[in-house]
Amino acid sequence: MYLKTVEIVGFKSFADKTTIEFDNGFTAIVGPNGSGKSNITEAIKWVLGEQSAKSLRGAKMSDIIFAGAIDRRKAQYAQVTLTFDNKDRALDFDADELSLTRRYTAAGDSEYMINRRPCRLRDITELMMDTGIGRDSFSIISQGKVEQIFTQKAEDRRGIFEEAAGVMKYKSRKHEAERK
Ligand code: ATP
Ligand code: MG
Repeated sequence: MYLKTVEIVGFKSFADKTTIEFDNGFTAIVGPNGSGKSNITEAIKWVLGEQSAKSLRGAKMSDIIFAGAIDRRKAQYAQVTLTFDNKDRALDFDADELSLTRRYTAAGDSEYMINRRPCRLRDITELMMDTGIGRDSFSIISQGKVEQIFTQKAEDRRGIFEEAAGVMKYKSRKHEAERK
């Protein structure tokens, strides 16, 4: 399983529909300061359910919508779709391809989709749990994260190993069952 494409419309600096393709292997994104590299990682985290505007370097969630430029009107919505190759069925979903979409309108409406069908954020979280691809998982190491890992409490650090070992899903279900 690997991330094949990221399609971005109206998210931060990406006013026009932009499709970024990844190969099964190593991909580096290079570009001048301010060209939108970090915005791409933030778009990925956002689809996976990032709720904190601060983590996306904004003051409020609507700051993720393309704000307009001298010659461009601001966007009415932001939408990002991640498409994963799932031929090896590493994701617990019976299809060769899996797409996750999040859409947020200027009016504040929010929507998540799996293969273009509306779903809850919880469905996305469950699906990606233990894969290492969650919004808080070890696959996205942002600036300052390495230091944070070294200075955090042992039990918090343990979470990283639990996700890598694939036990998060079971812990979460146990927690859910205990609450009922
Ligand atoms: P660096 O090399 O400095 O880390 P970068 O390539 O990671 O740069 P980003 O931080 O991804 O660049 O992009 C920042 C750019 O995105 C800025 O020019 C900023 O104005 C623009 N930007 C952020 N939010 C919006 C928005 N809502 N609408 C339009 N542009 C935005
Ligand atoms: Mg950056």
